[in-house]
Amino acid sequence: MTSPPEEEFHSKIDFDLWRRIFRFALNHKRLLYPLSISALVLSLIDAAFPIATMMAVDVVQTGGVTKDLIPVAALFFGLSISLAALVYIFIRCAGGISHHIAFDIKRDCFKRLQELEFSFYDKQPTGWLISRLTADCDRLSRILAWGFLDVMWGSFFVLAMTGTMLVLNWKLALIVLATLPPLIAVSVYFQRKMLLTSRLIRKHNARITASYNEGIAGVKTTKTLGRETKNLSEFEGMSTDMYSASVRRALLSAIYLPLVMLIGSLGSGLALWYGGLNVLSGTISLGVLVAFISYAGNFFHPINQIAQILAEIQGAQAAGERVMSLLATQPKIKDSKEVLEKIATHQSRNAVLQPASRNPEPGTHDPVDGGDAHIDSIQFADVTFSYNEKEQVLKRFNLTVKRGQTIALVGPSGGGKSTIVSLVSRFYEPVKGEIRYNGIDYRQRSLDWLQAQLGIVLQTPHLFNGTVMENIRYGRLDATDEEIREAAQLVNAHDFVMNLENGYNTKIGEGGARLSTGERQLISFARALIADPQIFIMDEATSSIDTETEKLIQDGMQRVFDGRISFVIAHRLSTIRSADQILVISKGEIEEQGTHTELLAQRGHYYDLYVNQFRREGEAQALEAG
Ligand code: ADP
Ligand code: MG
Repeated sequence: MTSPPEEEFHSKIDFDLWRRIFRFALNHKRLLYPLSISALVLSLIDAAFPIATMMAVDVVQTGGVTKDLIPVAALFFGLSISLAALVYIFIRCAGGISHHIAFDIKRDCFKRLQELEFSFYDKQPTGWLISRLTADCDRLSRILAWGFLDVMWGSFFVLAMTGTMLVLNWKLALIVLATLPPLIAVSVYFQRKMLLTSRLIRKHNARITASYNEGIAGVKTTKTLGRETKNLSEFEGMSTDMYSASVRRALLSAIYLPLVMLIGSLGSGLALWYGGLNVLSGTISLGVLVAFISYAGNFFHPINQIAQILAEIQGAQAAGERVMSLLATQPKIKDSKEVLEKIATHQSRNAVLQPASRNPEPGTHDPVDGGDAHIDSIQFADVTFSYNEKEQVLKRFNLTVKRGQTIALVGPSGGGKSTIVSLVSRFYEPVKGEIRYNGIDYRQRSLDWLQAQLGIVLQTPHLFNGTVMENIRYGRLDATDEEIREAAQLVNAHDFVMNLENGYNTKIGEGGARLSTGERQLISFARALIADPQIFIMDEATSSIDTETEKLIQDGMQRVFDGRISFVIAHRLSTIRSADQILVISKGEIEEQGTHTELLAQRGHYYDLYVNQFRREGEAQALEAG
């Protein structure tokens, strides 16, 4: 059972980081301005209420009549109505901003994750990355929107109250303000402690849930091994941890609230005492005293709010760092500057010449952006490659493939077959040497162009939730229904699809769960074909499917590979017998190379593989035949 690494709590706020994160909010000025203004006005209104009270008290004290109270009542009424309106505005604005920011951050992260090359994912556990990021994005957007509002309102409120008090009576003001430093210190300290303890509780809780799961799932093992007592004592240990953390959290709240209330009343008490003396000596009115008492009690709320946000910002700093560092990661495999320039000039020229059709169809790219209309050859020239510096996977690998040829790669697992096709696809780039398309290093061509040429079918086909039709169309979004049916026919998928309850409109469920592996493979084959790629790659595409579907796929391959370059990796040698070249790959090198007949005649590794498999299949057939 692995739990996510402990979140660090940053005692220092990294202002530069938060300034960069805040740019996401600045993109929504249309909401941010009204939000700031409503926070400002709201704080002024909050600060004005004691003034209204002051006026009312003074009217009464100076022996005024009912008529004199009417403007005061009107002020009160006006303030209350504006308050309600502002609360409505800020909830809408902050909610909107938070929603937009979450969307923006997620979109940017998603975009970057898609741009990043495969080697990035080799280093990162993807599941963890994705779940982490979603939580991080939500957290940041909440802090940016609501935290911004609270900090704005809180600081304006404190300023407005301070200003008003200073104007009313500066000496009395200074006495009340003397309670601010302890109030701030206590709030910051306790908010931070409470956040940390809450986090600890969540962590213990997760551990307890996990151990419940384990305890129930592994109950048989536990019983057979006589581990009940041990497990129980472990569980009790966890419960104790949880209990003490919860008690601590409750204790912190129990101390914090009365403490700040005490400081608040201390302020009010000071105001009452010193202000009372002033009222008696006639320096201030009774109304001013009442206003001061009320201000002294009002400081707690904004300061508590700001302290809470500061704690949250410190707690979310790790999330911010993760998101920003992902966004700052530059893809290693990307179009070179020269290629980008070529594409730019090409596009602007196109835009002038034929503004209506700026996007060329896939496969018909003009040679100007680094692509050719046809791929006549692919060449590995002295390619050396390693995933990490430690171990070389390919050493000075050389190979030339011509249009119309099918290359089969066989050999022991871990030999480097998948690596070779990943290099062809430019999922990785050679460390040394070049891979040339029509004689030109593919790094001088655009990635878009290359990717438009590739049709890839992997061992475990990934299908999306949707209909058969939608899944095939994923390969080329503008394919017509007719074209999709043709592609399915060509790869021999049509018949089984027609037998599904709704034919091409059958929903196939998450990951294609309702289909067999072979059927899923047929669909992913059709999906690869619909883009009409010039290069086909099948990496163990027939490895985990039944022999019947395999025959269908083999039959489809014959038709589909015509006029293209294809790479086939397969265990069953029957699949590759008709290949133009068969390479036996072992330890990153070509051990044997030739056609099926040539290799059999050599009586080498291929011959052994073939004979062994033939014998096994023969035995299996003999067994089946009884
Ligand atoms: P094959 O497809 O012939 O089974 P691979 O090309 O997958 O072989 O692997 C060749 C070698 O490269 C193996 O030693 C394997 O461990 C290593 N390898 C493959 N993929 C990675 C990766 N993503 N990161 C690090 N090493 C890898
Ligand atoms: Mg492989």
